[in-house]
Amino acid sequence: MIIVLKPNPDKQQYEQFTKYLTENLGLTLHYSQGESSTILGLIGDTSKVDIDLISAMEMVESVTRIQEPYKAANRKFHPQDSVVKIGDTGVKFGGGHFAVVAGPCSVETEEQIIICANAVKKAGADMLRGGAFKPRTSPYAFQGLGKSGIELLLLAKKETGLPIVTEVMDISQLELFDDVDLIQVGARNMQNFNLLKELGTINKPILLKRGLANTIQEWLMSAEYIMAGGNENVILCERGIRTFETATRNTLDISAIPVLREKTHLPVVIDPSHATGYSKYVEPMCYAATAAGADGLIIEVHNKPSAAWSDGQQSLTPEAFTRVNANVREFRKVAERI
Ligand code: PEP
Ligand code: MN
Repeated sequence: MIIVLKPNPDKQQYEQFTKYLTENLGLTLHYSQGESSTILGLIGDTSKVDIDLISAMEMVESVTRIQEPYKAANRKFHPQDSVVKIGDTGVKFGGGHFAVVAGPCSVETEEQIIICANAVKKAGADMLRGGAFKPRTSPYAFQGLGKSGIELLLLAKKETGLPIVTEVMDISQLELFDDVDLIQVGARNMQNFNLLKELGTINKPILLKRGLANTIQEWLMSAEYIMAGGNENVILCERGIRTFETATRNTLDISAIPVLREKTHLPVVIDPSHATGYSKYVEPMCYAATAAGADGLIIEVHNKPSAAWSDGQQSLTPEAFTRVNANVREFRKVAERI
């Protein structure tokens, strides 16, 4: 980090400031005295430096961060890919391990989730998804079955042996997640910092979706919240971002995959269902994501999409999913050789 000071700073303030940087933050300072200004180079872990606070100081002209503000998630400090294991189920994401998660947007009834679970299992999915707590834009839309939705997912897990992923919306719900294998933080909660901090204290993998209008850096800072608490099992999920385009529900940021690959060691999963919003666009995006190096996919699949209680328009039928899943596995073999 580089701090440029205005000419002739107040001596006492300057001394207090440099003492704070060296003694409180443990940084080493590199001084460069120019004709009209002093430049301070900060060496060490600058992730705790509050840029806004320093920029607001009377004697400070400008502050430039050279290093990213995230540390635990940063590839610089952890060059090898992280492999996130889903408990002892054998399912893994990252470091060459690829997994496909499939299932309905929402858990609706016992019959529906059992049919979907059996169908995606038969098609070769590694995990079952299904929302019990649903973050809906309208308060009048189906809000999810809540606790009984989790119970039905656990039933489907028992029946098929598939590990499950489902979304937590609030800290108070976490007591119901003991037997959930992977906890999803939805796009709308990506910056629910209290929730992220709490998830940092538990020993379970977290699927952190990208916010609708968040930058990659903000997303990595959210991962950092979880990791700073001690839980390093974070999987990032790109699910499309808001752009001016209306032909698709969101715009799938495929380029996030190579960008993240460079910046972080965490696995990256793509959700082509929420990204495109239409089942007909899901399949090509699965192939694009696989080619770009995704570590996994999360795909909405419903036994009867036209009758789904949420997101039916973007859900694949079990038949379509069977084809996509088989093709993606073949496709990966080719992508690996490139
Ligand atoms: C979901 O996965 O069902 C969901 C609500 O996704 P997102 O948070 O990405 O909108
Ligand atoms: Mn959905």
